[in-house]
Amino acid sequence: MFKPVNPKQNFPELEEEILKFWEREKIFEKSLKKTESQKPFIFYEGPPFANGRPGVHHILARAFKDIIARYKTMRGFYVERKAGWDTHGLPTEIEAEKRLGIKTKKDIEGIGIEKFIKTCQRSVFLYKDEWEKITKRMGYWVDLGNAYMTCSQDYIESVWWILKQIWERKLLYQDYKVVPYCPRCGTSLSSHEVAQGYKRVSETSIYVKFKVKDQPNTYILSWTTTPWTLPGNVALAIGKNFDYVKIKVKSNKSEEYLILAKDRLKLVKNNYKIVERFKGKDLVDLEYEPLYSYVSLKGKKAYFVTEGDFVTTEEGTGIVHIAPMYGEDDYDLGKQVGLPNIHTIDGQGRFKKEVKPWAGKFVKDTEEDIIKDLEQRKLLYSTELYTHDYPFCWRCGAPLLYYAKLSWFIKVTAVRDQLIKNNEKINWVPSYIKEGRFGEWLREVKDWAISRERYWGTPIPIWRCEKCNNIKVIGSFKELEKEGRKKLSRDFDSHRPYIDKIKLKCECGSEMHRVPEVLDCWFDSGSMPFAEWHFPFENKDRIDSGKAYPADFISEAIDQTRGWFYTLLAISTLLKRGPSFLNVICLGLILDEKGQKMSKSKGNVVDPWNIINKYGIDSLRWYLYTINQPGEYKRFREKDLQKVFRKFLLTLWNTYSFFVTYANANKWKLDIRYQISDLENILDKWIISELNLLMENVIEKLEILDITGAGRDVEIFVDSLSNWYVRRSRERFRVGVKKDQNAAFSTLHYVLINLTKLLAPFIPFVSEGIYQNLTGEESIHLADYPKSDKKLIDKELSKKMVWIRQIVTEALSERAENGIKVRQPLSKLKIRGRRLENGLIKLIKDETNVREIELKIDSKLNKVEYIKGSLCTQLTKELKLEGMAREIVRQVQEMRKKAKYNVDDIIEMSYKARGGRSKVNRVFDEFSKYLKKELLVKNLVKDESKDVDAEKEIDINGEKVWVGVKKIEKY
Ligand SMILES: [Zn+2]
Ligand SMILES: [Zn+2]
Repeated sequence: MFKPVNPKQNFPELEEEILKFWEREKIFEKSLKKTESQKPFIFYEGPPFANGRPGVHHILARAFKDIIARYKTMRGFYVERKAGWDTHGLPTEIEAEKRLGIKTKKDIEGIGIEKFIKTCQRSVFLYKDEWEKITKRMGYWVDLGNAYMTCSQDYIESVWWILKQIWERKLLYQDYKVVPYCPRCGTSLSSHEVAQGYKRVSETSIYVKFKVKDQPNTYILSWTTTPWTLPGNVALAIGKNFDYVKIKVKSNKSEEYLILAKDRLKLVKNNYKIVERFKGKDLVDLEYEPLYSYVSLKGKKAYFVTEGDFVTTEEGTGIVHIAPMYGEDDYDLGKQVGLPNIHTIDGQGRFKKEVKPWAGKFVKDTEEDIIKDLEQRKLLYSTELYTHDYPFCWRCGAPLLYYAKLSWFIKVTAVRDQLIKNNEKINWVPSYIKEGRFGEWLREVKDWAISRERYWGTPIPIWRCEKCNNIKVIGSFKELEKEGRKKLSRDFDSHRPYIDKIKLKCECGSEMHRVPEVLDCWFDSGSMPFAEWHFPFENKDRIDSGKAYPADFISEAIDQTRGWFYTLLAISTLLKRGPSFLNVICLGLILDEKGQKMSKSKGNVVDPWNIINKYGIDSLRWYLYTINQPGEYKRFREKDLQKVFRKFLLTLWNTYSFFVTYANANKWKLDIRYQISDLENILDKWIISELNLLMENVIEKLEILDITGAGRDVEIFVDSLSNWYVRRSRERFRVGVKKDQNAAFSTLHYVLINLTKLLAPFIPFVSEGIYQNLTGEESIHLADYPKSDKKLIDKELSKKMVWIRQIVTEALSERAENGIKVRQPLSKLKIRGRRLENGLIKLIKDETNVREIELKIDSKLNKVEYIKGSLCTQLTKELKLEGMAREIVRQVQEMRKKAKYNVDDIIEMSYKARGGRSKVNRVFDEFSKYLKKELLVKNLVKDESKDVDAEKEIDINGEKVWVGVKKIEKY
């Protein structure tokens, strides 16, 4: 006997029970133990920040990680799954600032770095419990007890070692460089961070007139979208081969001359006349009067026209205003031609005191005043609303400034070719990411600014001599002890501010101090293949022998192409260790149902718990796998999830519930002598063949990480199983049927077990529930993944069944067009084409409810098809009576269900036709044997009875008849 199945199962409840079972019996651990000596399948967990709440997009990534890990385990691989936590960096600092009620770097240094760091340490795991709770609840099997943490001492030591390798390759340097800079956070951002924070904005851009020296009323017209950079202007740049013009413009009273590119004349709204033409190179060295004179030139030349290869005539005026400290091209040009490089702005984005009118103000807030000032001085030509993508801080939302800073860089550009070569070895899903988004990123890779002027991060292990500028990079704690000539204490913490107290001795005799910066936290996460094992200080063999490196599989969202995916590859390439991952599923972002990004401020964030508690995690998982391809955006609609739940999960559950109900009612037991290959019934043969085909397809697809394709194949199969196999086989499962029954049960049992095994990685809970009940085994996750048996596949039969189902569909729709219910038997329909087995013809007969199928052999046709219009719709008296008998069966079945009878309860049925000479009485007489069999009736009583469990007056083709049912015994 199987455990009875509730057809109205509450899935979240079932899942919670199974979860308890897994934990109690340590099934995850057992699955690892079972595969311990097998070939490893290497998986890396991209570490999440535990100081943010897990959202539905985290479920997405974890669902895709889990399915592959479970699948590979069932295929016999050892899939170690070490969890990890990203802990350093600004998110934690921002949380600590909130807790301490402070805002700026000055505040932090005011209260003391130690106090700040301690607060950071405490807020790292703000939501760790919540993360662990949802990780467990969603059935994501990962080793939480053995997680790596980027702020642990072991981890930091490995990161130091990596940085030292890079230093030894001479790829680490310091330079002034214009970087995207967040004035609020007081730190520069790496390009992959910037890429995450672009927003479309409309700003006032201005056309500015630079007065040419010694030429009355003559101006060079330039254009800028960032008026705050104008006080820093020291030059103008032209393209040497472009055509420029001088035009005469008349306004109300005066007339003036403007110089701009010929191609940009369309921006001139007044009437004008061209008075002179030049090539760009003719303008070089032309001097102009400074717009502002707040920059101290320190003897350098400024305020002249020079040539820049970045100038275009696509927008602006073809003349670019140059402020070397606030633009990458500007800085490079300044270096080339020797322009002064002096900041007009401080580290918090405010004008310095030299810029008198706006000293101390945040530059973005001064733009209106600057425009007004220029207008008053008649140096503003016009303004224009300009819409463009502007970068904002991905963390705090402040607008970024391009700002020249001294930073530490890794010369990634030196290994660009190697990066591209390593990317060639990676299999990307979806495949277009490889050459597209990711490939483009690599081809245009820039040096990586790795230093952050912050506090809570891996301290950069560089010490510099105050006197001779000599540099030492430390690659281990041991080396630090040696160089510092002091033993580190047992509870040594390498974080700031403690590390800053350690001073080294320079060869010159002076003291060396650590540079103040900490590392970009993306450097931490990109180091995880090595640092999670404290390589090379421990576990050297794991990495070197390929037991833990490179990853066979990783998966995260698409925004990581410039984040984790990139830093993983960059670091492994810098270490000359090839690609650190070989296969990656890159997931599209989850949006709300209108296609908007989910955000707290919009209030459109979907709480995963609501969904899990309503439908169960398996429904959510199935939805995420099958709704569209993993790389596509997912618009989260609860309605779609509901559909998936009903169409797939409930269909599966109902089929299983049907099996258990009838198997128990028939006291069926698996006969191990029964051979699935000996089946004779054509439906059994067909479903077994389909199942084996499915196994073949699912494995083929999962091997290439086509999870969506595999899932959709299973959906089609489950639909066929329920709506064709079970539907057409119902008769054979009925209580009391002897013929062919064991074959039917054995087949469905075999199908369900193998189907749930196929499904185990997808829907680990429901498949576990079904499997345990059907097999009595401990856990489906300790079973092997099913493999197809080619001998059981009959592709010819598959093809034929497709024809049959097509014929049935057409015949039934013809019935519907004629308004004849399926219950009403008809005499005949015709088909034509190849010869068909009787068993298949019988399927058409039964499903379309006709007495006879006429097959016209047509050797020219390579299939069998329905002959349209051949359904004989004439009703003889006899057919009508049979139709009525079927109607009675249907309605009394309903009564049995309502009375909550078991499928094997035997009943007494009494009836009385209202009205005199009714046809119904004839039906009861002529079809009594049929009715008794179908409805499990022992006594059929032709009278009204008081002693019934349920009674009803039913309508049979317009005739009323009273029916009562009473349970009398079990079969
Ligand atoms: Zn910021
Ligand atoms: Zn020195």
